[in-house]
Amino acid sequence: MISEELNALRRKPSIVYWLDDKLYLNITNQCPNNCYFCLRKYRNGINNFILKLPYEPSSKEVIRELQNYINRKIWKELVFCGFGEPTARLDCLLEVANWAKKFSWIPIRLNTNGQAYLLNPNREVISELNKAGISRVSVSLNAHNNETYKQICKPKFESAYEQVLEFIRKAKQLMDVEITAVQLPELNIKEMEKLAEKLGVKFRLRQYIPCFY
Ligand code: SF4
Repeated sequence: MISEELNALRRKPSIVYWLDDKLYLNITNQCPNNCYFCLRKYRNGINNFILKLPYEPSSKEVIRELQNYINRKIWKELVFCGFGEPTARLDCLLEVANWAKKFSWIPIRLNTNGQAYLLNPNREVISELNKAGISRVSVSLNAHNNETYKQICKPKFESAYEQVLEFIRKAKQLMDVEITAVQLPELNIKEMEKLAEKLGVKFRLRQYIPCFY
């Protein structure tokens, strides 16, 4: 991509962005959590891409943007991950994933806070995601127990932590699931590892990115 085109892209909010060889989709800025470490509180975006959206894009718009970039490189992964919780817009997510599954071979991953069932009651979320081609799920759990979760993630839903655990249990039956946590002082890493083992999923510790401008 020529640098002027890249610079122009980075001056406007991005629905599609990339880091190294992964292509990312920023489909929403909605989220039922208010994690104290959340990057949205301190930055407008990452890697010079602006991820604060002026409005929630339609699935058609997301697909149009994706069409512009999906064939520009051999991307290792297509990841739903932006400045919000992708499952807050489940129908958009499914439509875009279905399109990507049909027109490319790139593995599709969902990065989520795991609250899809709270956000979409009465939906068969896991099987719908799986049918749409999502084969990997990375759940930002960020806490080894409910109390710590409330402290770090400040969820809107009272039962959030239990529901996230339930989401993980269901997801691992159909997809490759990992749980992640940001390395924060409140986190007990040993307990987190034990929890991952108990749930039967992988655990990945993520570096805390301090708030600087
Ligand atoms: S779940 Fe993710 S998007 Fe939502 S507040 Fe926490 S870090 Fe931010």
